[in-house]
Amino acid sequence: MRVIDVRLITEKVRDLCVEANTVLGEDVLQAFDRAIEREESPVGVDILKELKENARIAREEKVAICQDTGFAVVFLEVGQDVHLIGGDLAQAVHEGVRQGYRDGYLRKSLCHPFTRANTGDNTPAIIHTDIVPGEKVKITVAPKGAGSENMSRVMMLTPSDGIEGVKRYVIQRVMESGSNPCPPTVVGVGIGGTIEQAGLLAKKSLLRPLGTKNPDPDLDMLESEILSGINKLGIGPQGLGGRTTSLAVHILMMPCHIASLPLAVNIQCHVQRHKETVI
Ligand code: SF4
Repeated sequence: MRVIDVRLITEKVRDLCVEANTVLGEDVLQAFDRAIEREESPVGVDILKELKENARIAREEKVAICQDTGFAVVFLEVGQDVHLIGGDLAQAVHEGVRQGYRDGYLRKSLCHPFTRANTGDNTPAIIHTDIVPGEKVKITVAPKGAGSENMSRVMMLTPSDGIEGVKRYVIQRVMESGSNPCPPTVVGVGIGGTIEQAGLLAKKSLLRPLGTKNPDPDLDMLESEILSGINKLGIGPQGLGGRTTSLAVHILMMPCHIASLPLAVNIQCHVQRHKETVI
């Protein structure tokens, strides 16, 4: 049994909020480079280069990559042999978000759904906790902006829709989203489970590094087919035309009920940001 004080979790969440919002991952920068080589639209190439430059300025000047610093989505993997002391785990995460958004000069983007009164500190965080074997705690912070989240959907397909129905729906969702999710996007797809589990699978799929293969060869092929369909739409970087509408499609799948085929599409903008640490 390992003892961890939740104050350490607050500290880590604080740092991850700042880092995720200011330092774009190397995998994303490499995906921009690959897209620049492939892109046929001169305007598209210019935009992709601007996105790289924007990421450089954010990193070097320690400012947000985008003004929409998003909802703080926090994934926790807590080892079952860890004993957390010093307070409430969820409150420790919220406090880390509070400190990170304050200290990093990150926009506070959360409000009451009806009055629109700002919560003032970008809390509450959205916390997803998994209990896993071991005596470590893994923390991942994935800030999510509204432009791309608003274009995301969960759809209960019927079993007869099958794989072709999944392809059609995902490509159509990207087409209808147009320039709203600030392309080039990463399209997270969750297949199976229940309505809430499909959404979570889609969101979790976005954590996979860009340029890596899906460990399931069938899903890997499905990702390629959907990506190819999306990039024929011609939406392009920032919606101004071109081949690079999406950088990648990521799929996570699990069994579903015999009478349903849940499908979630969680679109992520070009600010494909998430940072993690293990205590
Ligand atoms: S969708 Fe992404 S790039 Fe567009 S405004 Fe929101 S966070 Fe920024």
